[in-house]
Amino acid sequence: MEEQVKVHIRVRPASQEETKSKDFRKCVEISDPQTLKLYFPRDTIRPFHFDSVLEENSTEEEVYDSTARDLVDSVLEGYHGTLFVYGQTGTGKTHTMGLLKKVTTKSEGIVPAAIKHIFERVKEGTVTLSFLQIYMENIYDLLNPTKKTLLLREDANSGIFVKDLTQVPVDDFSQAANLINAGLCNRIMGSTNANQTSSRSHIVLTLDIESTINEKTIYSKLTLIDLAGSERVRGTSSSGQRLDEAKFINGSLSALGKVICALASETSGHIPFRDSKLTRLLQPSLRGKVVMIATVGPSYASGSETISTLQFASRCKEV
Ligand code: ADP
Ligand code: MG
Repeated sequence: MEEQVKVHIRVRPASQEETKSKDFRKCVEISDPQTLKLYFPRDTIRPFHFDSVLEENSTEEEVYDSTARDLVDSVLEGYHGTLFVYGQTGTGKTHTMGLLKKVTTKSEGIVPAAIKHIFERVKEGTVTLSFLQIYMENIYDLLNPTKKTLLLREDANSGIFVKDLTQVPVDDFSQAANLINAGLCNRIMGSTNANQTSSRSHIVLTLDIESTINEKTIYSKLTLIDLAGSERVRGTSSSGQRLDEAKFINGSLSALGKVICALASETSGHIPFRDSKLTRLLQPSLRGKVVMIATVGPSYASGSETISTLQFASRCKEV
């Protein structure tokens, strides 16, 4: 049986700042396409194994081909598909998703590539887009800038859904891109600067597809998620708001980890979907195929965050 959860690692290239620093050294080494070795602290070499490890020079196209392409193909066969980027702020989550800048036909990254992939194959039926943000366990509609918080509801027919969430049918790439670009401008800016706060929330883009492909009628969902930064906030340097944000983020990321772990183990035990808004919201999708890309920086200086990202990622994998 095919595994339901795939886990990939992407290593960001060293930034100019990092390479200029006089004590810059790397703490990761990719020894084969599925193995990453961590040199941290100095003398221990720990190998971690994943479905793939994408090295510093990997292109956006290579990343799409090894992480997302099969998932989108599965969605076009009628499965639900969910892809997360997980990692410390600054390791390339938003870059990998292709959401750092306005989305255009020339954009690279998973979101634009997935939308192109879908419209190459969906010739009839409807594709519906929704875009939301979860900040401090509140859900905000990115396609409706009134900044009202939205509630999760459950009903016997449709299961769990976000009440009043804007759902827009889109006919082509550029309509989808325009909505995403508008949505990115509506992100909640919290305690500090814009860049910081966009990293304190989860961004969830969903494409619902209803179509007939190769004579098969499908109703499926592709959900693409740029998670909040996984870094731990140290108490001394942070204000009340930062600490509150961190508590919510830790809570929802650890709930996500537990759910993925339970799903990957394929046992029929209890799956704690109810532990966070994110996992509740994603409950129907998470029962389909799940891909996680964990992003890490290359440098020894961020080694302790890198190790916790690798541990989180391998817990999602090895069950
Ligand atoms: P995150 O969303 O995890 O906080 P970003 O995507 O904002 O991280 O990336 C942080 C910085 O690193 C950005 O300036 C981005 O352009 C750069 N960066 C990230 N990944 C790569 C990569 N694979 N190649 C080149 N630059 C990258
Ligand atoms: Mg980001």
